[in-house]
Parts: sequence; C-alpha cells; structure tokens
Amino acid sequence: MQRTQVAIIGGGPSGLLLGQLLARQGIDTIVLEQRSRAYVEARIRAGLLEPGTVELLHTAGVGARLAREGLVHEGFELAFDGRVERIDLKGLTGEAVTVYGQTEVQRDLGEARDTVGRPVIYEAEEVRLSGLDTGHPRVRYRRGGVEEEIECDFIAGCDGYHGVSRQSIPADRIRTYERIYPFGWLGVLADVPPVSHELVYANHARGFALCSMRSAHRSRYYVQCPLDDRVEEWSDARFWDELRARLPEAYAARLVTGPSIEKSIAPLRSFVAEPMRFGSLFLVGDAAHIVPPTGAKGLNLAAADVRVLCDGLVDHYRAGSDLLLDEYSTRALRRVWKATRFSWWFTTVMHKFSDEIFAARLQLAELELLGESRAAAQAVAENYVGLRFRRAEHESR
Ligand SMILES: Cc1cc2nc3c(=O)[nH]c(=O)nc-3n(C[C@H](O)[C@H](O)[C@H](O)COP(=O)(O)OP(=O)(O)OC[C@H]3O[C@@H](n4cnc5c(N)ncnc54)[C@H](O)[C@@H]3O)c2cc1C
Repeated sequence: MQRTQVAIIGGGPSGLLLGQLLARQGIDTIVLEQRSRAYVEARIRAGLLEPGTVELLHTAGVGARLAREGLVHEGFELAFDGRVERIDLKGLTGEAVTVYGQTEVQRDLGEARDTVGRPVIYEAEEVRLSGLDTGHPRVRYRRGGVEEEIECDFIAGCDGYHGVSRQSIPADRIRTYERIYPFGWLGVLADVPPVSHELVYANHARGFALCSMRSAHRSRYYVQCPLDDRVEEWSDARFWDELRARLPEAYAARLVTGPSIEKSIAPLRSFVAEPMRFGSLFLVGDAAHIVPPTGAKGLNLAAADVRVLCDGLVDHYRAGSDLLLDEYSTRALRRVWKATRFSWWFTTVMHKFSDEIFAARLQLAELELLGESRAAAQAVAENYVGLRFRRAEHESR
C-alpha cells in the first residue's frame, strides 16, 4: 500500500501541472498515467496559451523555455468575403497570447516532475477508484502484472474525456451536456514557414480554414472536413490545394507547402459535466469538459481548473479551510461555461454548416460587425485572451 496526499489520475498537462504546483507548496502527489512517457510527449494537440496560462506555468517553475521560445501574438486575423480584419488583442485588452505547443508544455512539465522525487507512474493499467464518498478514497491499478493500491486524501481526475474518473461517479450524481458538430478538422503539421506571422481564421464558402504555427519554421494548418472523411483520402497535394482555395488571394499566393509530418482528423464537440466534484474526487480539464478547438480554449481551461483546485488544496493543507475546495466546482464551471459559449460562438460564425444562404449572410454580418464596432471586437478579444479570475470572482460577489 502506497500513501499520498493527492492521487492524480492522468499525466497529461492538467495532471502534471497540478502535481508541479502542489509540489512547490510541499504537498505530496502520485501521478498515474496509462500511456508511456514517449506516447504522451509526442501527442500533437493545442498550441496557443492565454496570458493566465503562461503566468501559471511560470508559477509552476516551468516558464524558462516558454519565455525563450514562445511566440507572442498581439492579434489575429479573420479572413472572410475576400477581405481580412485584424483583431488587435493588445490594443483592445492590453494583453497578448503565446504560441507554444502542448508537446513542449508536456515536455517541460515532465522534466520538472523528474526533479520532484516522485516520478510519474507511466503505463499504469486498470486504474480503479473507490471510497470516493467515504472520506477514505483509494486508487488501485496494475503495473507490470502487479496489483498496487494507493491510499490518499483526495483524487484529482485529470484523465481526459475517455478517462476512468468521470465514469467512477454514480450516474445520478452527475449531469452532462453535449453538442456534436457536423464536421471535423483535418490538421497538417509541416516544416514550412507560416503564411502569416499571426493566426488566420478563414470563413469560406468551401468551409473553414485555420493557419496556425508552432514556431517560425513549423506550421499547423487545418481545413474543415466531413466527419466521415478518412486521413488516407487526403494526400498532401489535396490538402494544400484545399487550404489555398479557402484563403484570401494574397495569402494563397505566398503559402509555402511541403511534406506533412503529421496529419489527423479531429471531431468537434462541446461537452460539460457538472458538478466537477464527487466526494473526494475532483474532475479537472478534459475529464470534465471539451470545447471545439476554434478559439483554442481546451488547454487553457484545463490550466484554469488546475489553478482553482490548487488554491483549494493549498488552503486545506495550510489553513485547514475547505471553503475553496467546496467552491471548486462552482468557480471552475462559471469559467467553463463562458469558454464553452465563446468556442461555440466562434465555431458557429466561422464554419459552413449547410448551403443555406441566410446562415451565410448572418455569419457575414457578425464578422463585418467586428470590423465596425470596437465594442464587438473587444468582447471577442477579451474572450480570446481568456477571462481573468478577478472578473470571475467579482461576478460571484
Ligand atoms: C486531437 C486534439 C487536438 C486538439 N487541439 C487543440 C487545440 O488546437 N487547441 C486547444 O486549446 N486545445 C486542443 N485540444 C484540447 C487540448 O489538447 C486538451 O484540452 C488538453 O490536452 C487537456 O488536458 P488534460 O490534461 O485535461 O487532458 P489530456 O491531455 O487528455 O490528458 C489526460 C491524460 O490522462 C491519461 N489517461 C486517460 N485515461 C486514464 C486512466 N484510466 N488512467 C490513467 N491515465 C489515464 C491519458 O493518457 C492522458 O495522458 C485538442 C485535443 C485533441 C484530442
């Protein structure tokens, strides 16, 4: 039997960030991850960090490489109807976002964990949670054919959408809300310079496209595609032709293409489970909510949950107060629903849902408004850089 204060299920960004922040506060954790370290560190996912996430990574002591290599973006572009409008994040909010791949965040957090003296237990199989409503939670798992057990005070369910944590909550103690979008994103990673130094979101009659990047030499591009498309149907040449067709002429003309180094199709969904707590179990990040990637909120929301839970756990161990832990779900969900709304709105405005002209005209009106109304652009910019906690706390008073 092993003993820890907080058992963390999942060694993705949520789990490792929580473990790192707690370690700096002298709180002991064990992190269980079902995959291998190599697999987890190679997963290509998010790439855009809100300023609040950047701050939190610095607080966790993993901000050095991010500060050196992250690309600071003070705005982004919206391409539609043959023109381009820039959303000036810095001018509208005073803040900027940072391009830094989730793979890099994962690597930095993994290296930091190596120095904590409590390594992540990778390839933990058949993880099971029990005693969640007894005050004496337990985690069981198998590793290398050996059955292990952990006794702890709390469990942080950081194991993503398909994890075991949410599924361990009795069905009558949790509610879920879901919207599945009728298309996916075909993403390509390539070692070519980005078409623009800022992100370009394109609304086009052929469907949505996004020009993003991971560095000055590595681009991440996406096109909206039917849900039942398979990656094998998309040769590199077909992908580049389709992307070019959806971009404004000037961008299409300067698009540099090259062989893909990763290509995948991701479905788009909005999903929220509430409450985010059951007894000693706290759900964190994708275990509790999923947003479509439009607006890049997934990883940032996960980091925001981690911050709220970390504050609660520190208060529990330092001050003997459970006030913040008791408020965890309410505080986290307030932000989750706002980001769910923004991601849904941005998805709705940018994608082609049907051939209906009325819907296309409404999208055009929304996008034009952003160029004409500072108030409308500011609302988008505030959501894009991430709603700050002081605002959320202010709202709760
Ligand atoms: C294909 C894809 C593309 C994405 N693109 C973007 C993007 O462009 N922008 C954006 O903001 N967000 C994006 N996201 C979302 C973003 O990556 C997630 O929000 C983020 O990874 C959430 O972190 P997490 O730690 O909560 O969950 P995860 O990253 O899912 O980590 C959960 C971890 O738990 C482990 N695990 C699962 N089950 C168990 C178990 N039973 N026992 C032990 N461990 C377990 C998993 O192996 C995983 O390592 C994308 C997600 C996907 C899947």
